[in-house]
Amino acid sequence: MLEFLLTNVRGIPMKKTSDILVVGAGVVGAMLTYHLAKQGCNVRLIERTQPGTEASGAYAGLLTTVAEGSGQGPYLELSKQALNTLLDTVDTLQEETGIDVGLEHHPLYRVATNAEERESLLHSINILKKQDSDTSWCEANDLLQESKLFSPRLFGAIRSNKEYHLTPSLLLKAIIKGIEQHDSIITTDARVTGLLKEGKRIVGVSTEYDHYFADQVVLASGSWTPELLKTLNLNLRVKPIAGQMLKISTPDLQLPFIVNTPRGYLVPKLFEQSVVIGATQEDKGFKKEITMAGITHLIRVMSTIPSLVHSSLHSTFVGLRPTSFDGMPLLGPVPDWEGLTLSTGHSQHGILLSDLTARMVSASLLGRDTGDLWQHFLVDRGLQSLTEQSMEVNI
Ligand SMILES: Cc1cc2nc3c(=O)[nH]c(=O)nc-3n(C[C@H](O)[C@H](O)[C@H](O)COP(=O)(O)OP(=O)(O)OC[C@H]3O[C@@H](n4cnc5c(N)ncnc54)[C@H](O)[C@@H]3O)c2cc1C
Repeated sequence: MLEFLLTNVRGIPMKKTSDILVVGAGVVGAMLTYHLAKQGCNVRLIERTQPGTEASGAYAGLLTTVAEGSGQGPYLELSKQALNTLLDTVDTLQEETGIDVGLEHHPLYRVATNAEERESLLHSINILKKQDSDTSWCEANDLLQESKLFSPRLFGAIRSNKEYHLTPSLLLKAIIKGIEQHDSIITTDARVTGLLKEGKRIVGVSTEYDHYFADQVVLASGSWTPELLKTLNLNLRVKPIAGQMLKISTPDLQLPFIVNTPRGYLVPKLFEQSVVIGATQEDKGFKKEITMAGITHLIRVMSTIPSLVHSSLHSTFVGLRPTSFDGMPLLGPVPDWEGLTLSTGHSQHGILLSDLTARMVSASLLGRDTGDLWQHFLVDRGLQSLTEQSMEVNI
């Protein structure tokens, strides 16, 4: 363990050391801190504002592998295993902290709103059947028989019998309480401004007022992770993809299922009598705004259940998904830099994947078995030097 005696800008001697520093208290960094703290590590989680205020505050919290498509191969396997481990952790967290994270399950209908989408879904169901998923095909008439709430204009749907979702803000609250109960420290309102180096080793981070030292530093700073890596002349292929969403109050209408369309989804939150309508996917840098185009998009998604038009607007949300170039998480040690690890790029499934990736990254940090899937998600594939990148642009 490194021990340093520092003097901060106000002249107060500072000695801030930990085994591990985690930067970013979104669901990814917070879940990692929780797992490390449970294993007896002395961890400090550093957040520039408050936990869960960026992408991890998104309302939907869908934990499904069929809704937005989890691809095939290792990513599908990761998503499936991630659901099982997350459900276990949610059980433990709820017991440890007494915080209900709003876990619900419902049937999910992936609906076709035109003939082209119908063809695409019919193709998908053949793949899903081969993957042993609990799904079946519903013709438009079957849909209306199952529920009068569906629009008569739909072209059929894939029905999945049981899909989970939770409320991310409540999950964050439980994780933070869990971290505190396991004696680790959370430092909020502290923006990490740089990485402290000794040769090719990262020994800590600097914030506006303090220096923090540790044996290992993990960057879990979502869409902002590339900024911190630039100081090491590294380009990380992660960018923000904005998502707008609405929450509507539905005291007079209990939507008993989740609806998914190629443009977005409707997720009932029965515990608070609301429905979440999400989400746009916009590649427009770090801009976070609710736009009329976004609202129009979401209203189109809502039109699959026409009677929702009578609901009142509860609130809106916009967040930036930390999206990697191939849509899959980027995990593990940064090559050529000792003491630096990443956990980011969770893209559109970060709530679902948070627990399993935290388990894998904590195993790597503690020199334990990271499992067979680990090799497919290593950071190496998303990193290049800034010089390499500018050469690519110039050619
Ligand atoms: C509209 C929308 C809907 C979504 N729906 C779902 C869904 O249904 N299911 C699902 O699984 N996923 C969903 N996602 C994706 C999921 O929310 C993200 O993948 C996940 O939240 C990413 O978590 P994160 O911790 O990596 O990033 P973030 O939540 O963005 O957290 C990063 C944290 O790092 C902090 N930070 C950044 N820079 C610094 C710095 N220099 N110093 C200190 N702290 C710093 C930030 O303040 C932030 O708190 C959705 C996302 C959006 C936007």
